[in-house]
Amino acid sequence: MEDRVVVRRVGASEALFAKAKAVIPGGVNSPVRAYRAVGGVPPFVAEACGAEVVDADGNRYVDYVMSWGALIAGHAEPSVVAAVQAAAARGTSFGAPTAGEVELAAAITRAFPAVERVRLVSSGTEAVMSALRVARAATKRDVVVKFDGHYHGHSDAMLVNAGSGLATFGVPSSPGVPAALAALTVTLPFNNRDALGAAFRERGREIAAVIVEPVMGNMGVVPAEPGFLEAVRDETARAGAILIFDEVITGMRVGPGGAQTRFGVRPDLSCLGKIIGGGLPLAAFGGRADLMGLVAPEGPVYQAGTLSGNPVAVAAGIAMMKLLERNGVYDDLDRRAATLCAGVLDAARNAGIPLVANRVGSMFSFFFTGGAVRSAADARRADAARFARFHAGMLERGFWLAPSAFEAWFLSLAHTDEHVARTVTAANEVFRSS
Ligand SMILES: *Cc1c(COP(=O)(O)O)cnc(C)c1O
Repeated sequence: MEDRVVVRRVGASEALFAKAKAVIPGGVNSPVRAYRAVGGVPPFVAEACGAEVVDADGNRYVDYVMSWGALIAGHAEPSVVAAVQAAAARGTSFGAPTAGEVELAAAITRAFPAVERVRLVSSGTEAVMSALRVARAATKRDVVVKFDGHYHGHSDAMLVNAGSGLATFGVPSSPGVPAALAALTVTLPFNNRDALGAAFRERGREIAAVIVEPVMGNMGVVPAEPGFLEAVRDETARAGAILIFDEVITGMRVGPGGAQTRFGVRPDLSCLGKIIGGGLPLAAFGGRADLMGLVAPEGPVYQAGTLSGNPVAVAAGIAMMKLLERNGVYDDLDRRAATLCAGVLDAARNAGIPLVANRVGSMFSFFFTGGAVRSAADARRADAARFARFHAGMLERGFWLAPSAFEAWFLSLAHTDEHVARTVTAANEVFRSS
């Protein structure tokens, strides 16, 4: 076990970040990577293998970001790499159908009970955007309901905050999103059945779809409480609205077949991404056969993509799905994640620091707060400054955490009991010194 504190080198990452900022907005291709929430310079990654990442300065870290959950089998997993190499050697893109995409689509429909037919796309954003279009076409309605703190990619309709009061029109949360479009998105508090019921009583006949992360993963991990997803299912069914599960994180993460299998609630449409692309750009939306029959060219709802069903990404996805069919995979992940959470909670208790852990399988997060965290509002009460100190202390000790208090930790099959034990030891040190 490593207990000496090595001084972390940062010169190469600093130089790269300075150059990056000149040519890329904020120096990054996705905002959270810039470390604004925790301060400091983001380490630039040189390479990664298994559970570990090496940065441009040669520092080595145990990774708990795992490409934001995509890499459930670890970095550069040999069977995924071999599949990618073999596929690339046969040609990287054809813009024509291939056997591989049929195989992956079949594997997805086997794994997800509510996905009878599926279309492959290149990002979760695209999957959500397309599913919303299908729902609006199917219902001939325009209003979509989402929950506060849930992230569904960056399409205009989803970049919307709650207006004043419950079930009011939304307001754009980003410049560039037209107010007229944002007004069609209603934002409700998560895990609040009264608010849900009120929204449907007031506007049920206008609602095309409700979209939900069955386990909120983008404002820290907050699971739906028992009965909440069932209530969403009942309300949508009664109102003739479409229920969309955004399983971009939870699909193949909280168990085989995702949250819809784990919790036994059947959505009309599902969005998938991250894990099913094996670390390459691939996502999917699918669901009821009749709804998917609306998609062009079978139906009138337009949806397309030059790189959709890309053969290299598809090969990675198939390899990943095969890995996750092995027996005991999810039990191992669950056991290690439980040990890690218990250890970090103990460390905080010993140091007298209030800390809450929310966990579903191998996705979890820690909130520096005393009370239960059941919603985005609860999550926002957590101590962000304390998180930033924790993040910095862990980074110095060689642990790569998401650079925001409001992101999940993800465990992979490459994380060993020893990684977990070292993480708990480091958390003890950091808590004692902060
Ligand atoms: C990551 C994510 C998305 C967006 O996927 P991208 O591939 O980043 O566009 C959508 N929904 C959820 C729940 C996500 O976690």
